[in-house]
Amino acid sequence: MNVLVYGSGQLARMMYLAGSPLNINIQAVDVATNKIVNPVTKRNLKISLDDAIANADVLTVEFEHVPEALLEQAEQSGKLAPNMRSILVGADRVREKQLLALANIPNCEHEIITNVAQLDGITERLGDKIILKSSRDGYDGYGQWRVSQQSDLDELITVFNHLDLEKVPIIAEKMCPFDRELSLVGSVDSEGNVALYPLAQNTHFEGQLHVSIAPAPELNDTLQQKAESIFAALASQMEYVGTLAVELFQVGDDLLVNELAPRVHNSGHWSMQGADTCQFENHLRAICGLPLGDSHADKISAMVNIIGVSSFSKNLIGIPGVHLHWYGKEVREKRKMGHINVTANSYADLGKKFEQLGEFLPMQHFPRLLTQASKLAKQ
Ligand code: ATP
Ligand code: MG
Repeated sequence: MNVLVYGSGQLARMMYLAGSPLNINIQAVDVATNKIVNPVTKRNLKISLDDAIANADVLTVEFEHVPEALLEQAEQSGKLAPNMRSILVGADRVREKQLLALANIPNCEHEIITNVAQLDGITERLGDKIILKSSRDGYDGYGQWRVSQQSDLDELITVFNHLDLEKVPIIAEKMCPFDRELSLVGSVDSEGNVALYPLAQNTHFEGQLHVSIAPAPELNDTLQQKAESIFAALASQMEYVGTLAVELFQVGDDLLVNELAPRVHNSGHWSMQGADTCQFENHLRAICGLPLGDSHADKISAMVNIIGVSSFSKNLIGIPGVHLHWYGKEVREKRKMGHINVTANSYADLGKKFEQLGEFLPMQHFPRLLTQASKLAKQ
């Protein structure tokens, strides 16, 4: 099988690595240049996009912000999975909110702003703490503004006056006082079979994911089932095929959907070591019409993102159950350079391994690792 992936970053790279044993050959489109590259070596394969589409059995995406003209061409080939509508839902927060309303799925109270005047009196309606999100092209907390007092809002209005909000609306969302962040990652095939991973608990810092733990500590069947029924409703509404991630806020026993990612997801990377079949392989199985693999977690797992740093001792892989996944990128501030997967026999054991990792890592780049370690010690 030949699969063409739009986007040539680490997610395409990890799809390539997961596809090789199945003899699934992966090529990637660098969407900035339309060049076709090998997503591991980044070597230019010197074929045209049209030829790559013609040669592929399946087309897929590693991120949702693919130029719409490219997506249209992909959809028209009849080979795109997930479908274009699902990808656009992930790329556009207005479409996302419309889908959530259609499927009757709880999410944070919000208003869609297409005109600055709509922000008048918004703090009276949504409360003092508001997060404003650009409806398109946001990721890792970029394209977001947090407001906690009227003067913040006044300053922002001067920024928004320069934006075309009719064209790219802003979502004004109430800051939800959640207990914690979770995500459900799962894969769906074209017959509607699903392989769902256990809920992961996600810890962010400055809008970016730093640590995921799966299964989430203190997870009960009711919570997992609630998340699974949200996932099922959204997947069926979108006629989804492939791996899908649903980001959630837990508030008491309730779950609110934060956002969807129509692709493999950072909070599912733990599955490379922690599940029989990882999210990348199950994505490929789903889109290639192969049977889905077991997605149960055998152990307690975690994923620790390596952000904005590359110099540390790789000897940390000497800690039992620790694996390093490097993306081969040049270091830049806030850039995801790789991740560390950790598997353990218990949450307390996981916490100890986090502490051991701390001896190898420059901790200013891992601000959530030791706080998580101390929480895990109490589990
Ligand atoms: P990513 O691409 O990393 O998932 P993103 O830039 O697409 O992030 P969101 O997931 O919407 O954006 O927001 C990033 C983080 O900001 C969330 O994971 C959460 O920690 C916080 N956040 C977003 N919306 C809210 C909200 N309404 N209330 C409280 N916190 C929020
Ligand atoms: Mg998010």
